[in-house]
Amino acid sequence: MSRFWLARAVLIALFCALVIPGGLDLYRHRHFDVPVVAGPGVTRVGRLSDYGPGLKGTAADTLVYFMEGKEPGGKALLMSNTHANEPEGLLAALIVLENGLVEKGTLIVVPQFNASASRNTKPGDGYPLYFDVPTSWGQKRFRMGNRDASPLDQWPDPDVYIHYPEKQLLSYIDIRNSNRTWPGRPNGPRMEQVTFAAMEMLRKEKVDIAVDLHGAETMFPVTNCIVAPEKSGRIATMASLTVKAREGFDSHVEPSPAGFHGLSHREIGDYSNTLPFLLEAPIPFLDQPTGPKTVKFLLDGKDPFLLSLAQKKKLFVPYDEAGWPLEKRVGQHCSVVLEIMRQFSKKSPDRAIAVREIPRYADLVRNGVGYYFHDPAGSARDRIFLN
Ligand SMILES: [Zn+2]
Repeated sequence: MSRFWLARAVLIALFCALVIPGGLDLYRHRHFDVPVVAGPGVTRVGRLSDYGPGLKGTAADTLVYFMEGKEPGGKALLMSNTHANEPEGLLAALIVLENGLVEKGTLIVVPQFNASASRNTKPGDGYPLYFDVPTSWGQKRFRMGNRDASPLDQWPDPDVYIHYPEKQLLSYIDIRNSNRTWPGRPNGPRMEQVTFAAMEMLRKEKVDIAVDLHGAETMFPVTNCIVAPEKSGRIATMASLTVKAREGFDSHVEPSPAGFHGLSHREIGDYSNTLPFLLEAPIPFLDQPTGPKTVKFLLDGKDPFLLSLAQKKKLFVPYDEAGWPLEKRVGQHCSVVLEIMRQFSKKSPDRAIAVREIPRYADLVRNGVGYYFHDPAGSARDRIFLN
């Protein structure tokens, strides 16, 4: 063999040795399923494609869990992983699914709203592929997703994303951000199909309130808050004041800007009769000037660089050596969701939604997040859903 061909063979072998193991990790991540143990409150499970048939058979289709009470009442939608790199929302939604009991009305839960993003990664920022939450029966493993849908499911990106139908110019990457593609259209790009199917669900099921669970940087002003348009403002304010007075944590109200399009807290309100709310819990892991993006940091929210920035008053939330641990973030989401439903029910008793067995902030801080997850190995197989 000539030296030319030998050098070529060595280079090809080296290329394969580098690309295949890295690619395999990404392949395994995309195909890793999280077993969800549907609690006694879950009465049936459907799919988002039931409302938007274009999603059928795609990686953007996702499970929709119904928790129907014996007594008729109102309906609430809870969705998480709109941004799949903000796991406090996902964990709060799964705690509701595994533990909640609905006595009156219906709770609809979509834990992996952007299912494609939940199977996408952010290797450029050194994100972990998975994170584990400790439980009494071992570690429960979750995929760490990305903010945007995978290019495997929606491609190519335009130079500029022109929002439909408002024609507002948005960043090119927002075409894969399912919190910029509301209200969507049935034949648009995949993420517009996702939000369109969700809008159809809200309209057909006559959903009264929709809560979109997120996490936001501590250096971003819209953090630790409830974002609400005018029509949801009163309930958001009452929920904010009540959790502050009764449970001792802050979650202030931010008005949804009327001229910024594509967001759930804007378009759901404008294109349906549903009252939208978007909850942001502080997630230090997403801030830019931090140390390595480790699983430990994702869970405990402790970072020395953020601590020094807090001392220089650069953060929008109080921050000390305790960081901002997962149980606080998930606990805030659980309590604010419960409070929004309670305030809505007080205002509209004929459409009341009554739930129990969902832990609140103090329960999460005391027991941790893993305490509320059930062992799939000890659960009936027909109650396990791979998400
Ligand atoms: Zn978000």
